[in-house]
Amino acid sequence: MNCPQCEQMIEGPDAVCKYCGYDLSSSTWVLLTSVYPPNDLIIESLLNSYGIPYKILRREVSQMPVTVGPMAEVRVMVPQQVLDQAKALLQELDDQSE
Ligand SMILES: [Zn+2]
Repeated sequence: MNCPQCEQMIEGPDAVCKYCGYDLSSSTWVLLTSVYPPNDLIIESLLNSYGIPYKILRREVSQMPVTVGPMAEVRVMVPQQVLDQAKALLQELDDQSE
């Protein structure tokens, strides 16, 4: 993923930029979009390919996996700094699918 502050590549799972010291975990995470599978995979690969950091929040039911309906909703969170960029990418995705 890329640093939202200086746009250098951040390597490894620590999520701290070695160039500017930006700590991803300290940023404000905002909701990018709520989707249902399998659209979450599309969005994940899109964000990955553009180096945008993201978190996936899945509502899971412990007893049994639910793949349809509201319980399977997937919330995609991104740092506030990259929200506009990420939204623009999703918009392009929408345009392509129409
Ligand atoms: Zn940085």
